Amino acid sequence: MGSTLSINNHRSDIIGLKYVYPVLSRRAGGLSIGINFNTNNTCNWRCIYCQVPDLKIGTAPGLDFERLAKELRFFLDDVLNGGFYDSFRVDEDKRTIKDIAIAGNGEPTSLKEFTEAVELIGQIASEAGVFPAADYVLITNGSLVHQTRVQDGLTVLNEYGGQIWFKFDSATEAGRKLINNSGQSCRAALENLAISSRLCTTALQTCLLDYDHRGLPDIEKQAYLEALKTIKNSCRLRRVMLYTIARPSLQPEAGRLQALPVETLNAFADDIRRLGFDVSVSV
Ligand code: SF4
Repeated sequence: MGSTLSINNHRSDIIGLKYVYPVLSRRAGGLSIGINFNTNNTCNWRCIYCQVPDLKIGTAPGLDFERLAKELRFFLDDVLNGGFYDSFRVDEDKRTIKDIAIAGNGEPTSLKEFTEAVELIGQIASEAGVFPAADYVLITNGSLVHQTRVQDGLTVLNEYGGQIWFKFDSATEAGRKLINNSGQSCRAALENLAISSRLCTTALQTCLLDYDHRGLPDIEKQAYLEALKTIKNSCRLRRVMLYTIARPSLQPEAGRLQALPVETLNAFADDIRRLGFDVSVSV
């Protein structure tokens, strides 16, 4: 097979499966196994940097549990015992499963059977010996965490030692509307963040970008720092992860977006560290 899996190749269909896809992750330094519930490319937000093709507003379709189980077992076996790494010419030093990440093409917590799906993935990865060595990660915009069925899923994730990467790109209402096209207030997002951090280890994931050559506006920086101050005692955050856009957006605003310089991210990271948070920067 002539394919090469690179850090730039996130194609979910590269191995021909519906729910499971490999990502050679720059952040993780190895193989990240993605699980995509949103096979219909749906999310309740529309972030202007989103890389989901043909993104639509909506929820994940009903999950075919049998197929997910079959795909995950098959793929884990191919990685652990088969020829996956050779087939995709994966560098020797990256031949390790770093995490299984529920992410994919939309908001995964919109899946009605979210809890059952988290349980199934946890069971299969544990049986295969992948957990607890590899991380179990949920990447979410956090907007549905107030729902009991989502909280049940986060509780199960916690039972498998998992972690939540909670998206929080702006602490201003205007910024949240502009960047995420979200109607959820900053206050509601922070309430959900507090719930999330009570149920499971939670890290904040913040995408900072340059929109129309505005750089990182002071008003955004100050609001973000103020928001972190207000949650410092109510949320136990594992880390704040800052990043900027690395690949082209597939949204109409793509031409108006640019990555921020690493110096800008590092300076902002220092501001956040001064509040007592652990911060990482990736560009
Ligand atoms: S929350 Fe994620 S999937 Fe949804 S629009 Fe934003 S980047 Fe895309």
